[in-house]
Amino acid sequence: MVQLMGMRRVHLYIRGLVQGVGFRPYVYSLATSKGLCGFVSNLADAGVEVIVEGDETALREFLEELPKKRPSVSRIDEMEVEWGAPSYAFSSFEISDSQERRISVRSVIPVDLGICDLCVTEITGNTRYGGYPFTSCAQCGPRFTMIRKLPYDRVNTSMDVFPFCPECLREYLDPKNRRYDAQGFACPLCGPKLTLLDASGEAVESKDPIISAARLLSEGSIIAVKGLGGFHLAVNALDESSVSELRKRRRRPNQPFAIMSPSIEEITRFAEVSEGEAQLLLSPARPIVVLKKSDNCNLADSVAPGLNSIGVMLPYTGIHLLLLRAFRREALVMTSANYPSKPMMIDERSALSELKGVADYYLVHNREIVNRCDDSVIKSIGGDRVFLRKSRGYSPSYLRAGWSVGDKYILGLGGELNNNASLFVKDQIITTQHIGDVDELETLDFMKNAIKFIEKTYDLRKPDVIACDMNPAFLTRRYAEELSAELGSPLVRVQHHHAHAAALMAENGIGLDGEVVSIVIDGTGYGLDGNSWGGEILVAGYRDFKRAAHLEPHPMPGGDACAYYPARMLASFLSSKLSDSDVEKLLEKDATKYFKHGIEELKLVLKQCKETRSLKTTSLGRLLDALAVALDVCWLRTYEGEPPMRLESLALRGGPSEIKLELEYRKENGMYIFDTSSFVNAVFDLKNSYDRKDMAFAIHKSIGDAFAEVACLLAEECGVQTIGLTGGAAVNTLINHSIKEKIMKNNKKLIIHKNYPCGDGCVSLGQSVVASSRIL
Ligand SMILES: [Zn+2]
Ligand SMILES: [Zn+2]
Ligand SMILES: [Zn+2]
Repeated sequence: MVQLMGMRRVHLYIRGLVQGVGFRPYVYSLATSKGLCGFVSNLADAGVEVIVEGDETALREFLEELPKKRPSVSRIDEMEVEWGAPSYAFSSFEISDSQERRISVRSVIPVDLGICDLCVTEITGNTRYGGYPFTSCAQCGPRFTMIRKLPYDRVNTSMDVFPFCPECLREYLDPKNRRYDAQGFACPLCGPKLTLLDASGEAVESKDPIISAARLLSEGSIIAVKGLGGFHLAVNALDESSVSELRKRRRRPNQPFAIMSPSIEEITRFAEVSEGEAQLLLSPARPIVVLKKSDNCNLADSVAPGLNSIGVMLPYTGIHLLLLRAFRREALVMTSANYPSKPMMIDERSALSELKGVADYYLVHNREIVNRCDDSVIKSIGGDRVFLRKSRGYSPSYLRAGWSVGDKYILGLGGELNNNASLFVKDQIITTQHIGDVDELETLDFMKNAIKFIEKTYDLRKPDVIACDMNPAFLTRRYAEELSAELGSPLVRVQHHHAHAAALMAENGIGLDGEVVSIVIDGTGYGLDGNSWGGEILVAGYRDFKRAAHLEPHPMPGGDACAYYPARMLASFLSSKLSDSDVEKLLEKDATKYFKHGIEELKLVLKQCKETRSLKTTSLGRLLDALAVALDVCWLRTYEGEPPMRLESLALRGGPSEIKLELEYRKENGMYIFDTSSFVNAVFDLKNSYDRKDMAFAIHKSIGDAFAEVACLLAEECGVQTIGLTGGAAVNTLINHSIKEKIMKNNKKLIIHKNYPCGDGCVSLGQSVVASSRIL
């Protein structure tokens, strides 16, 4: 079509009070009075979109008059104006009711999807995509990790530097093709390429980098692989010496490594897969699923030492798929290449410097990773999906609250470990991808960028309210305070376990005035009294909560050192019932194993237990730590959660027995207290008379039973029908199971997390809803 002289197009986004105030009819009459064509439409983000085409002079008048003559109750906060060439698609000006397509694009950031079966067939077959890892279609492939901004068009992604070749363009434009309007695909002629680098970063001559990498892996090399959301370290999972070498180089003695395996069938060679677990593994998000190791598990022992479970995922990109096919064995270790307190590496430069001395080779590609995103981790407990980490394939995630915060924007900054951030806007809470342990500036920066990305997408300028944890030592709290001072936005400090309970309520659709008896079993959280809480039952609403039950508080000799040397906690529990000399006698034999400096250290620990200023804890994590030492399962924590995970693994091998073990409770000034001193001492008395694995089973069962029983009593007392279960220890299969069972038996309604992690990945969500309830 011939372009007429003077014809232009203006695209407007108007934000402010522009809906429900007669704004669209106003725009309509103004546009038609100027003889302009186009439409005006409401957007899901409460703004208005206008496209007007016509004579440039008329357009300029329209733009000038628009803010001046608007309806008196309306308000324009922001007007984005974009000039362009006319489309000539309109013959009149119309008010259009809704724009489904635009609304959905503007409201939801699309997540990454694992490679689909049709693409697998093409990549592994004799097609023009054969052997090429970077293709995808409208049903699969990268999204979030390559998006710079919305709308989701190729120009706004890191594929913008790879223009389509004619054949790809034909597929893209053909409505009957499954690559029609798909943004992330390419072919060997036009798309990204793989390169294999040696340890110094020099390219290795190779006809096919994947075949070479697979060969090197079979020979025992450690290879850093750039994938979708960051770098992994890959090594042959069936070879003990390769896996041990990786552990040695990474200085990670015990932390379980995730496995990638080509198919469900291959996984069944080393792990048990239920139908539900198979569905999770095959789902488009392709998460890591924690599976039970099979009895004849042929993986190297050091893949997941001391555990009876293993985290497994299927290939989710063409790179992984082709690499595993070429490797020809059933399993590769595929573990995040970053250190726990560092963000995932996303570019060659940082990988080459941070993995110096660790990786022998690097399998890299030239598609930029825009948003880093770790693998998601899921466990199935009694058929329920439980998130251990929610990230790739699910993030950013959206939760619709049962209420709106109006035009306010509330930012929840979470806690410290396994953190993320949540942005509460209108009636939606948007949660970022998993950030990791925000105890260093680098991870804090990563979090700031992840927040910025969502702010930019939704045009959020600054948080009106900021929510954070109460712990004064947290970097996230200090950042929240700085931000609050800088922006003049009020700060809401939310108690850690209250945030857990509130997140659980929001996730389960409980209204603003709802109340729940919430079991919060956790590692640690800063309590209202300054002590470390974590074995709690709260009667909680959104605005406030009452602490109604908790584990007996015990001193933490040496503070945080207790978390690393769990025998310190054992000494603390024992010394509450026994004299120092009796505790010394009990632990003497293993003193050098339990304590770095042997019996002398134990004496000091016992002295520290008596100090009145000693920090106290009610954490279930610390109790399980002590019991793991008592049963000789683990006496040094080398990764977060190790002692309880090992204890659980032992317990899962045991079963019900005649062991009489009960976690008793008493009521003191209206508060239920679980008698952990008697419990730990009883375990110590009984442990040599029974099989250790049955002891471990009895421990878990009695803890679960006691919490469930008290929660039911409290529900009766408070007239509350619903009981909640949350906290990091809620992922413990046996405790989770016995709590559920007992609550069902008592005919109470139980709510659990289905879409957010039980652990601290739900804290930012909880903070944002607590803050919202306090300002409404
Ligand atoms: Zn596909
Ligand atoms: Zn192409
Ligand atoms: Zn927590």
